[in-house]
Amino acid sequence: MLIVSEETCQKVVGHKNAFTAVEGVFAAMARGDAYNFPVVREAIGHADALYGFKSGFDRAAGVLGLKAGGYWPGNEKQGLTNHQSTVFLFNPDTGQPSAMVGGNYLTAMRTAAASAVSIRYLAREDAKVLGMVGAGFQSAFQMRAAAAQRKFERVVGWNLHPEMLSRLEQTADELGLPFEAVSLDRLGAEADVIISTTSSFAPILKRSQVKPGTHLACMGTDTKGKQEVEAELVAATAVFTDEVAQAVSIGECQHAVGLGLIDESRITPIGAVINREHPGRSAADEITLFDGTGVGLQDLAVAALAAAAVQAE
Ligand code: NAD
Repeated sequence: MLIVSEETCQKVVGHKNAFTAVEGVFAAMARGDAYNFPVVREAIGHADALYGFKSGFDRAAGVLGLKAGGYWPGNEKQGLTNHQSTVFLFNPDTGQPSAMVGGNYLTAMRTAAASAVSIRYLAREDAKVLGMVGAGFQSAFQMRAAAAQRKFERVVGWNLHPEMLSRLEQTADELGLPFEAVSLDRLGAEADVIISTTSSFAPILKRSQVKPGTHLACMGTDTKGKQEVEAELVAATAVFTDEVAQAVSIGECQHAVGLGLIDESRITPIGAVINREHPGRSAADEITLFDGTGVGLQDLAVAALAAAAVQAE
């Protein structure tokens, strides 16, 4: 069995090949060629940890596997990342294990790739200003992946904890883009594309703050109860997602659907846009929203990419 370390993943998986892998698996999901199995997530009653599995099978790519891991809140004190995960891949013909792949870096890359896919297919071509809501670990990956999709001229950002904003400034600097920390009112008024990546449990962005024509990629909400934008804002948009079942249960859409503001049938899998079964954005002034909940198949796609790259060396 091949073992691919975190360090090797960083060498062989970049934003470009992660984008292609995630775009491919979203397309396969929408065609019915790939599917995710129910997620398991449990508090284990030890070290305050949440532990679980995300798994699936991509028949088209021949990728079968699972991501095991979760959240250990005490890790940071030991100099470790709180989120820990490992992907296991299996031969779909025999069930034999084929690879064990470090999942921490890959989780950030596949999450950034998902919002980048949404930007490529849904944002206006002339988008110039990127708005970042959130400045945690994910935000730098998100900004780098987004920057490759449109000719952004500047970045505006907001974070509940202002001491974290330096991460956004440094990342924008690395990309050669000017950065300004702004209020949410200004962010909504100026940004053409907004990525939210926080662990908030209450709406941050309001309907009244977002201008027509904006594309929103809501990436933080991946659990029941979390929320980044007002349900009324979701209801005012053309809504897309990685997987509808997750969007309505653990994604940003859980609130708008729960309040009866939108019906599940209004939510389109992004794969349908990739496969040209849905036109995506329908007008320049439409607000589009991608509810990125994070599916196991994304993890398997980038892990298979890493394993294949190592095997090819
Ligand atoms: P992090 O802990 O590094 O950063 C957390 C961010 O949320 C910071 O910007 C912080 O200021 C902000 N925040 C915390 N509490 C808040 C509150 N009450 N209101 C507003 N903002 C608040 O986390 P991270 O690794 O950057 O992950 C960010 C979020 O993305 C998490 O919720 C995580 O679960 C989620 N996530 C989603 C996916 C997916 O596929 N959709 C994948 C990975 C992580």
